[in-house]
Amino acid sequence: MALFVYKFGGTSVGTVERIKSVAEKISLARKNGDDIVVVVSAMSGETNRLTAMAKEMQAQPTDREMDVLLSTGEQVSMSLLCMALHEMGHDACSYTGGQVRILTDSSHTKARIQEIDDHRLRDDLDAGKVVVVAGFQGVDEHGNITTLGRGGSDTTAVALAAALNADECHIYTDVDGVYTTDPRVEPRARRLEKITFEEMLEMASLGSKVLQIRSVEFAGKYNVALRVLSSFSEGQGTLITYEDSAVEKALISGIAFNRDEAKLTITGVPDLPGVASKILGPIADQNIEVDMIIQNIADDDTTDFTFTVHRNDYQRAKVLLDQVCGEMDAKQVTGDDAIVKVSIVGVGMRSHAGIASTMFKTLAEEGINIRMISTSEIKISVVVDEKYLELAVRSLHKAFDLESK
Ligand code: ASP
Ligand code: MG
Repeated sequence: MALFVYKFGGTSVGTVERIKSVAEKISLARKNGDDIVVVVSAMSGETNRLTAMAKEMQAQPTDREMDVLLSTGEQVSMSLLCMALHEMGHDACSYTGGQVRILTDSSHTKARIQEIDDHRLRDDLDAGKVVVVAGFQGVDEHGNITTLGRGGSDTTAVALAAALNADECHIYTDVDGVYTTDPRVEPRARRLEKITFEEMLEMASLGSKVLQIRSVEFAGKYNVALRVLSSFSEGQGTLITYEDSAVEKALISGIAFNRDEAKLTITGVPDLPGVASKILGPIADQNIEVDMIIQNIADDDTTDFTFTVHRNDYQRAKVLLDQVCGEMDAKQVTGDDAIVKVSIVGVGMRSHAGIASTMFKTLAEEGINIRMISTSEIKISVVVDEKYLELAVRSLHKAFDLESK
């Protein structure tokens, strides 16, 4: 007998009918003799609907009241699911995050889980009940309702799996696993049987929006075996696990990309200590996230400095950089907001040389100009013009032999 945490996302509980199918899935697992803790999201669109209503009340509602409001979405799905389970003859009981006592810090709308009291859940499981918990929420030490940030139900599920020492945490969603790249860009993308936590983090942070990034970090930290599966079709999904278990021995596991990039360059910067901090300080002060940073070798005691930001922050960052340019007596600021980042990700590249050169050769053969390059231990990213995104992804997918056989 095994203990599983099942998490169902918004589309999986999007209608009454779908909630009934979720109940059937749980019923099947119960008949196999497994213990099941279920985490549910709000019905699809509900969190957005509530947010829109709040905005009609007040331009800037307080974070505390937003949390009180948004946490109700998950309460609706958890109670409806329990009713469906009761109707099928199962004993089931639902709890809000606060009722379980998922204790978080007090950072409303982006709270972090600190501690989970599992005794109520364990008692229910021992009594043969299915336990249904509202995702995305907790309670702080003062008893205020908190939420964990958009997509936070994934993190609730992983945290419960860690606390209960579950055998696996299943994330049921509308895709049937993690793919080598986005199938909308490369129809020959293949579902991965397994991927490591590290690779998944790179894939997730690069724009493959399957899981909340924090849930993957959490799973890696507490070694929770995480499986992404479709709630609409059968299949094994993708297991996210540790590197030393028999992960597919591919050099590259996937191609990630991010469309929303922009780059800024400041040239003729005096080559002096403190320059990088003078350039990036004002950007950081405005809470603009910087991704890649490249500084050139100095020539004539001046240097060039290029970095990328989210496309939405491009105009704001450019204004700040223009100011810095004047103050520092640098030459000029240029920028481009029609660029994208394409990355190859794989733990296999740790032990293999020549991956980068294969990547660059492939892009060269397609006539794609590389504007920036950055690398980490298990990732190589390039910035290219937006118009080459599809071509770059497809040619790399082919070059690294990721296509479905
Ligand atoms: N309902 C929340 C959201 O839409 C949390 C979640 O679904 O994970 O972001
Ligand atoms: Mg989600």
